[in-house]
Amino acid sequence: MWWGGGSWSMDGAVPAAVVESLRQDIHGERVISARRCDYCTGTFSIEAPVLYEVARYSDVDYFTDTLGIPETWIPDAARCTACTRTTIEPATEGVEELLIRIGVTETRGLLRLDASELEIIEYSPSSTGYEAPPVQLNVLLDTGDPGAIRWQRLKHVYGMDAAPPEVRAALDQLLARVADPPELG
Ligand SMILES: [Zn+2]
Repeated sequence: MWWGGGSWSMDGAVPAAVVESLRQDIHGERVISARRCDYCTGTFSIEAPVLYEVARYSDVDYFTDTLGIPETWIPDAARCTACTRTTIEPATEGVEELLIRIGVTETRGLLRLDASELEIIEYSPSSTGYEAPPVQLNVLLDTGDPGAIRWQRLKHVYGMDAAPPEVRAALDQLLARVADPPELG
């Protein structure tokens, strides 16, 4: 369902305040100009709205406090047509996640998100999902990628044919420290 200019309706799945905060936080936000899909080596076109995973780290204190991650919506990963999904799976507890399609505009070679074209596909509140993986802070600092504590991203890394054995081993260690981990394989 598409909407613009603040008039929208849905079946109540996504609170209006969430959509409003999303609009305010990400409208005009710069994204990588390479148009690179975060899940494969492909690229995405901006002729139509782009599939994005956006996240708000609302309830992962060690994360937001220690790393200074703002509690605002952050564009986390873009998906090209070949990597299209309609669900957030597995979701991560403590992180609000949205799967959206959003306009992307280009001005003088810079890409920015345009929330006047916005479709919410799926919403996962911070209260749902699997317990956040206990990713070590130094790993997060090294990667500089907040998405590293999202199970959806880790599942992708785990499932990559080219994933180095040491990466898979590190993820196995993570999984072993979670009481009820999602199925990644
Ligand atoms: Zn892709």
